[in-house]
Amino acid sequence: MSRSPSRTRSTLVAAVAAAASLAVPAAPPASAAPVPAPGPHAGPARPPVKQPVATGYGGAVSTVDLDASRTALDVLKRGGNAMDAAVAASATLGVTEPYVSAIGGGGYITYYDAKKRRVYALDGREFAPERMRQDSFIDPATGKPLPFDQAVTSGLGVGVPGTLAQWDLALRRFGTRDLGALLRPAIKIADRGFVVDQEFHDQTAVNEARFRDIVPTRRLFLPGGKVPEVGSVFRNPDLADTYRQLAKRGPDWFYAGGLGREIARTVAAPPVDPAADRDVRPGLMERGDLAAYRAVVREPTHVPYRGMDVYGMPPSSSGGSTVGEALTILGNFRLDARDPVTALHYYLEASKLAYADRGRYVGDADKVDVPLDELLSAGFARERACLIKPGEAAPAPVAPGSPDGSYAPCVPPGTQTRALAFEGPQTTHLVVADKWGNVVAYTLSIEQFGGSGITVPGRGFLLNNELTDFSFQPPAPGQAPDPNLPGPHKRPRSSMSPTLVLKDGRPRLAVGTPGGSTIITTVLQILLNRIDLGMDLPAALNAPRATQRNTPFVYAEQPFIEAYGRGLAARGHRLEVFPGPPAGVIGAATGLEILRPGLVQAVAEPVRRGGGSALVVRPAR
Ligand code: GLU
Repeated sequence: MSRSPSRTRSTLVAAVAAAASLAVPAAPPASAAPVPAPGPHAGPARPPVKQPVATGYGGAVSTVDLDASRTALDVLKRGGNAMDAAVAASATLGVTEPYVSAIGGGGYITYYDAKKRRVYALDGREFAPERMRQDSFIDPATGKPLPFDQAVTSGLGVGVPGTLAQWDLALRRFGTRDLGALLRPAIKIADRGFVVDQEFHDQTAVNEARFRDIVPTRRLFLPGGKVPEVGSVFRNPDLADTYRQLAKRGPDWFYAGGLGREIARTVAAPPVDPAADRDVRPGLMERGDLAAYRAVVREPTHVPYRGMDVYGMPPSSSGGSTVGEALTILGNFRLDARDPVTALHYYLEASKLAYADRGRYVGDADKVDVPLDELLSAGFARERACLIKPGEAAPAPVAPGSPDGSYAPCVPPGTQTRALAFEGPQTTHLVVADKWGNVVAYTLSIEQFGGSGITVPGRGFLLNNELTDFSFQPPAPGQAPDPNLPGPHKRPRSSMSPTLVLKDGRPRLAVGTPGGSTIITTVLQILLNRIDLGMDLPAALNAPRATQRNTPFVYAEQPFIEAYGRGLAARGHRLEVFPGPPAGVIGAATGLEILRPGLVQAVAEPVRRGGGSALVVRPAR
């Protein structure tokens, strides 16, 4: 199909390519102070203090957790590279953040390789068992989809875990250390224990009822039958032992050996307490599914934005395509820090349109056709941008566009649209830069806080419920096709968006966050804050958030509503406090900025979800 020359409306201006406004903050904020290590102790202790911003040289890390950040920093100090440090940090998160990060889950890495001067995307997303069909979530007894909560706590939602295969691939391709060595710090913490903080306590508490009903989960996460108190020490010797065995036997033990057999058995017959009144459906996973799993190196998504290059995660995630499409739409408008309400209006409208296209066109590109190049093309973005009115929000949901290569301006909206699937906020993101200039952005997940709630007996880790990211119900006749239906060895569509921004071919920013489908809007908003609205990265992360995912309401944090609610309401946006979970809080981001060659600022949340931990090898004076 031939591309028609696109005309722009008078409200649209050409992308301000040269006007990249990544001004370096004048004085770097105070760097991280050393924090005392949590030693073994008897009585309740205070969870260690985390520092959200660190600026300095020799490498940097930001994660949600002090132990994980320290683990990464230690690897960097001993000469490991960013990929080594990222793997070590995520293994530690498997101990200290077991409800969001585990070898029972999956995730995505974007990686800048300084030697090759290239960005790579590593897909470690879980895939569905061979026996999965598009109606597998339909309850044969009722003919209706299983209720979401029931699908979450079931074997049916468990995807073949990708994390270990991804670590293995990442280290073989880009690392300098072997997995065994990188697991050692995590083993130590699992054996010795860590001090329970409010987050860990709360995440256990929200899961208490289902954890109680699943025998190995109760034994591990409700020691003495109770939710561990803040300040108590939590140990996980089973996981220490699993990591030790993995260090010795390698990932084959998981994918083709004894541990794989145990996983398949657990999914096929979830270890529910016979006294519990809970219907936990068995899953479809078999040993052969574990043996068939592969992590994949993919071509990252790439869009130009304000003279920079933004790289993201391609399908099976919708992160790169949706962040990329929204940015490309925004590139058609001049955004001005002096008029934040107008800038935010365009942000919400661009995001709304990009979400409509995400729902209609994005799924696992290994299994369905995804028009990725067109979704990210300037022509399609201009056609979508033509629909945005400067003074008035479009009623949502809006219809998807036609990324068909033939673009006329101001096409009237169609009618097909699908409801937004439920995706929770329960993941984690980390970033690492090393002294050679390599940069990692890594988002990993077991989907819900606590995943499926099913612990592999005696092994110390939870299994994911990532397959609940699929749509549960095939479209009715006449409805638009759904690219995200379950299928054999298919990866459910994700929103994870580990994102790297390069300027003149060198990395400048790395960002990412948990938050289910709000991941995309949080990453977008941080980029907008940093690149267009004149904030430095700590302010860009800290700023109040809003998310528009093609729904009638814009969900936002209360301070956002206080600051911009009136102005946006005047343009027809209907703002409501984000219902959560957790209520009123969107995301828990981490990021870093390379201020100039060698000088890195690592940034974590100061407040959201208990804040995160940024560290650098040599703090700047
Ligand atoms: N399962 C979600 C996804 O892949 C992430 C989980 C979350 O952050 O809640 O997009």
